[in-house]
Amino acid sequence: METEKKYLNKIICLFYPSLLNNFGFQSEKGITFFSEKKAPNIKQFLAELVTEKQVEKLIFLNYPQQEEQLNELKTELAKIDRQITNIILFHLENYDLLEEIWSQYLICPSCEKIFVKQTFIQENGQFICPQEGKVKFSSTTVAEFNQNYWENYFKNNKILLEKILATEEKTSPLRINRLTIRQKEELFSGEIREKLWEIINNI
Ligand SMILES: [Zn+2]
Repeated sequence: METEKKYLNKIICLFYPSLLNNFGFQSEKGITFFSEKKAPNIKQFLAELVTEKQVEKLIFLNYPQQEEQLNELKTELAKIDRQITNIILFHLENYDLLEEIWSQYLICPSCEKIFVKQTFIQENGQFICPQEGKVKFSSTTVAEFNQNYWENYFKNNKILLEKILATEEKTSPLRINRLTIRQKEELFSGEIREKLWEIINNI
């Protein structure tokens, strides 16, 4: 009975901006990550985990993204008598920090990776993606893309969070853990990774 209870006892949804690709999510003892890119079939993925009974914490990376996925996830979890227990939300401490990020960094409209503005803006104001070489963007395109990126990120997360909370089972309250960024440097150092692991380990 004891082992029955321990496996998959934390089902966590982690939402973070896709530009932070430096997390290096590696499954380790008792903890595993689900990414839609790596395992497109949630049903099959869960079925394998249930057979193994090895994983205690399952973390969904930027998943679900739409209401349809949320419903499917909930249905599949219900089949194995589980539900979402925690949500980890990426959070900027204040608006000033977001403005600081806007002024000093830019997200490439093509590969959605983040770069230091000064280094990659040409004299004519164009941005050429260092990853993709020939792709050029005007400064207006880049500025608009960046503003929309962040606004959509926060807006979509808010909508999703409301939907998840709205369908939550009353019997077992969902907990929200915030991954708070206080300085822009944290975004690009190992600090954010450490903070995230600390949260995961404490759940
Ligand atoms: Zn790019």
